[in-house]
Amino acid sequence: MSAVHICEVGPRDGLQNARHLMPTEAKKAWISALAAAGLKEIEVGSFVPPKLIPAMADTAEIVAFSRTIRNLKVVALAPNLKGFQRALDAGAHKVTFPISASRKHSESNVRMTPEQMVEEVRRCAALPHAGVEIEGAVSTAFGCTLQGNVPEDDVVRIAAALAEFCDCVALADTVGYANPVQIRRIFSRVRKEIGGKLEAAHLHNTRGLGLANALAAYEEGVRHFDSSLGGLGGCPFAPGASGNVITEDLVFMFESMGVETGVALDKLLEARKLMAKAIPQEPLYGHMALAGLPRGFRDAA
Ligand SMILES: [Zn+2]
Repeated sequence: MSAVHICEVGPRDGLQNARHLMPTEAKKAWISALAAAGLKEIEVGSFVPPKLIPAMADTAEIVAFSRTIRNLKVVALAPNLKGFQRALDAGAHKVTFPISASRKHSESNVRMTPEQMVEEVRRCAALPHAGVEIEGAVSTAFGCTLQGNVPEDDVVRIAAALAEFCDCVALADTVGYANPVQIRRIFSRVRKEIGGKLEAAHLHNTRGLGLANALAAYEEGVRHFDSSLGGLGGCPFAPGASGNVITEDLVFMFESMGVETGVALDKLLEARKLMAKAIPQEPLYGHMALAGLPRGFRDAA
């Protein structure tokens, strides 16, 4: 079965939504441990204004550090042109832009309509950025806490607009509203529109459907997944709910199916211990860490 590529987003999506700050040195040790477990792509931070999100204030330093890790693609999030310039200065290999398909979410979050946000990313892509990959991530693509339903036509239209100038496009279930049938339908619709430019599924496990949705996306041809170790981060709109789809559970699911991830589960669980030590009060999720590997388990490699 064909392999999957996992981008660990805990240092960005997880820590951005966590209640506790992780010290810079602990972040570096954690990112090193994640890379040592075999993760080849890590979203290490976000170039948002530090006053807005103090947890991301050290992103430039974290990007510079992460670049020293061999064979690691270093990803940073940028919400606008200013953030993009900071990401380029810091040396990110890939910059991801969230473009909310929900009009209400976009207007309340970045005070721009989705169309204005697409234009902002277009301006970024027009700047010289040799060797730097640009990803347009359509967020709230499966529903929104403010707007409720997000029309599928809006998702398809925004994805198609982004595909004109982005290297790749991701679809994100930002608030964990998606179900597997919806995942298959929307990924299939967008793929018909933009083909191979549709790359990652960014899923949240807010309502426990993270793995089911990941499997549905896999069956729809998706081979790139974002996830976070321990489901770190929670959801700002649902106190107590878990964050992204859980990396170690995702790796276990794929490996036990015979789908290679390139990630070593034992080392991943070591990285989880390191993370738990650095932010001991933060709730963590996941079944693998509790249950351990089944007797006789063999990974896909
Ligand atoms: Zn997310």
